[in-house]
Amino acid sequence: MNLSVAEAASPAAEPVMRRPSLAGRTRAGLDEALAEIGVPEKERRMRVGQLWNWIYHYGVRDFQEMTTIGKGLRAQLAERFTLDLPEVTAEQVSTDGTRKWLLRMAPTGPRDRGAEIECVYIPEVDRGTLCVSSQVGCTLTCTFCHTGTQRLVRNLTTEEIVTQLMVARERLGDFPNRAAPDGAFVPNDGGRFVSNIVFMGMGEPLYNFDGVRDAIGVISDNEGLSLGRRRITVSTSGVVPQIEALGAQMGTMLAISLHAVRDDLRNELVPLNKKYPIKDLLEACRNYPGLSNAKRITFEYVMLKGVNDSDAEARELVRLLKGIPAKINLIPFNPWPGTRYECSDWERIERFSEIVFKAGYASPVRTPRGRDILAACGQLKSETEKLSARARLMLEQDEAETATVAH
Ligand code: SAH
Ligand code: SF4
Repeated sequence: MNLSVAEAASPAAEPVMRRPSLAGRTRAGLDEALAEIGVPEKERRMRVGQLWNWIYHYGVRDFQEMTTIGKGLRAQLAERFTLDLPEVTAEQVSTDGTRKWLLRMAPTGPRDRGAEIECVYIPEVDRGTLCVSSQVGCTLTCTFCHTGTQRLVRNLTTEEIVTQLMVARERLGDFPNRAAPDGAFVPNDGGRFVSNIVFMGMGEPLYNFDGVRDAIGVISDNEGLSLGRRRITVSTSGVVPQIEALGAQMGTMLAISLHAVRDDLRNELVPLNKKYPIKDLLEACRNYPGLSNAKRITFEYVMLKGVNDSDAEARELVRLLKGIPAKINLIPFNPWPGTRYECSDWERIERFSEIVFKAGYASPVRTPRGRDILAACGQLKSETEKLSARARLMLEQDEAETATVAH
């Protein structure tokens, strides 16, 4: 171990591990915490209910505010645990109102400085969508995705997923009876706070199945954070064996990152396709539990210039999806420094979209949001690998040249 002189000489050389936080825990996790401090089993169910209400409904950050719990127990809890949320190390606001938070997770061990992840809030007229991460980085290496180039990868815990929503609610002043912190954005035009969640940040959610499932359990619990499962979308690059379980155990909306209509091209763009080819993926989609016209699958298709954006590919896309209740989401490619791809020209995207639309599919082109703060799809990457000023400038120029389209 390489210790600097100051560290070696200091009596505080042994890093002090922080007290664990209860924020983000499942009911079972809270029960465990109460057992640890000796609360008798017969009392625990009621205590879990109280903690749940304070933590998730009211968003309190101090045990002393839990007035339905006796002083003694409050003190015991405070001695052993905290209600800390991940630290917001940076908050950026895009010119279009999109907000990106860089969050530092609690260290997992003495030598860990705490992984950093990003979480993005996208306000729209009729909704507010929070884009959350399921992993630090991603083990899959989709060639057009910036996240896939990050080296450090681990699953986020249930707590680390749930607390992304808690941070957003806190930063937006969206917990009842709690004042918004300085600089918070509080919609005052009747707009929504966080009404929807998409697992479209860093990571492949189905590679962290248990963590994501339990987090969705906490988030959708209607005595707490109360965000319904129909308002939660899990996006996958196509982990076929887990798709049925996703529908059965999580009951959320499903999004598939399709991006190509032929296996040879999809093998290149989404290498996981070599394991689970398009035919198997679409078969799993047809069998997705609960699928109906009211509960459609979203197919994401990133528009890459000269790669996957021809008329013939648009027609093939429509043919492939025949019989599946589907929405098609065309995503203009968001460039990042060093990428070999370019975004399709606007006329091309419109033409592609028209073919899809004429075949009877809603085909909204996802307006790029938050490009100026690198918060758009596939641009999420930790602070440790910040962009050079020049790269940022290139992106800004690109942003200035990009028109938006609404269908
Ligand atoms: N790993 C999951 C979820 C996170 S990615 C998945 O792949 O589905 C969220 C979406 O952003 C996916 O559809 C992904 O293909 C897309 N995406 C990744 N990089 C992008 C980029 N540079 N431009 C536009 N979309 C991108
Ligand atoms: Fe991972 Fe999704 Fe990016 Fe592919 S697109 S590398 S699965 S985060």
